[in-house]
Amino acid sequence: MSTIRKRVLVTGGAGFLGSHLCERLLRDGHDVLCVDNYFTGRKENIAHLLSDPHFEAMRHDITFPLYVEVDRIYNLACPASPVHYQYDPVQTTKVSVIGAINMLGLAKRTGARILQASTSEVYGDPSVNPQTEDYRGNVNMLGPRACYDEGKRCAETLFFDYARQHRVAIRVVRIFNTYGPRLHPSDGRVVSNFILQALQGQDITIYGDGQQTRSFCYVDDLIDGFIAMMEADDDITGPINLGNPHEISVRELAERIIALTGSRSKLISRPLPQDDPLQRCPDITRAEKLLGWQPCVPLEEGLRRTIEHFAEMLGVQVAQGRA
Ligand code: NAD
Ligand code: UDP
Ligand code: UDP
Repeated sequence: MSTIRKRVLVTGGAGFLGSHLCERLLRDGHDVLCVDNYFTGRKENIAHLLSDPHFEAMRHDITFPLYVEVDRIYNLACPASPVHYQYDPVQTTKVSVIGAINMLGLAKRTGARILQASTSEVYGDPSVNPQTEDYRGNVNMLGPRACYDEGKRCAETLFFDYARQHRVAIRVVRIFNTYGPRLHPSDGRVVSNFILQALQGQDITIYGDGQQTRSFCYVDDLIDGFIAMMEADDDITGPINLGNPHEISVRELAERIIALTGSRSKLISRPLPQDDPLQRCPDITRAEKLLGWQPCVPLEEGLRRTIEHFAEMLGVQVAQGRA
């Protein structure tokens, strides 16, 4: 796709999204430097890339300065699931804020273009649905999700200030729930939890009444959005929502997964975690207009591919196709 080879830094490159992004950038003919401290990322996610002479992996924590020479920076380093980002909340804020300062300082010195992986969590528990980029959000700054939500909000502020004050070429994408192969099996996210429970015949844990909604984007679609945004014209800084606007309830998701896996698991209720957003759905008009981007993998197809991945990991057979 791309004709000019660039030196691309991916922070958080050994994580779920980062490893898919590294793969894609190598396929597009770039030199990729993956920087990760393996807090939630795994070496096995990038093991298949290590023999590629255009790929390099470096263990580093981005809350400390990093001096390398690059043309593009994708800043993805940050634990992303509620279980993981609440495990060490102070570190979560540090990686979001100090990590952003260091990567922006690096971009300022090298003149690299830098993309921030922001999140739909900047909208908190939204009072408008679907969420447009103009909506300023409803975040409880004192609650257990705040380390992530406020950390990411502050990172966005830093990005726009570095652009205004230091002319750094920035891109900010707000990612909505994304799923696919290599989701960490124990990070508690809903898609991986439900698939693992269904495949192992365990009860499926619905938090609350399961009427809360999310909109799930398949990882390949999201990576297309990342690249489109990074390579867009300079006046397109964002923030831009990237996600799949197909909204479904958590209960409906569980039922789909049960059907697709042919599982006999039962649905059971568990308490709804504090500050869990009741609804979430991206308005992607801006991405469609400015980037010509929209997701194209339907939920059922994406779930099939993800189920296949986890079934292989567990060494179980699935008779798919009953949905
Ligand atoms: P992930 O946990 O799989 O990946 C995060 C990666 O960052 C891991 O490899 C981890 O080891 C690394 N990391 C954490 N702290 C670090 C540090 N201090 N220094 C260097 N590396 C560090 O999560 P993911 O789903 O791949 O998310 C990637 C990014 O996308 C995150 O910034 C997340 O906030 C954002 N995001 C993801 C989603 C989603 O649905 N997957 C939604 C919204 C935003
Ligand atoms: N920084 C970095 N790599 C670089 C340049 C800067 O990690 O190549 C870090 C540096 O440690 C600094 C931060 O980025 O703390 C912000 O840099 P900036 O130039 O904005 O601030 P200053 O150095 O003036 O404090
Ligand atoms: N959830 C659930 N059961 C689980 C894991 C999650 O019902 O085993 C719910 C969770 O309460 C939330 C939604 O699924 O309403 C999505 O949770 P996830 O942690 O994947 O992402 P979030 O969008 O909350 O960051």
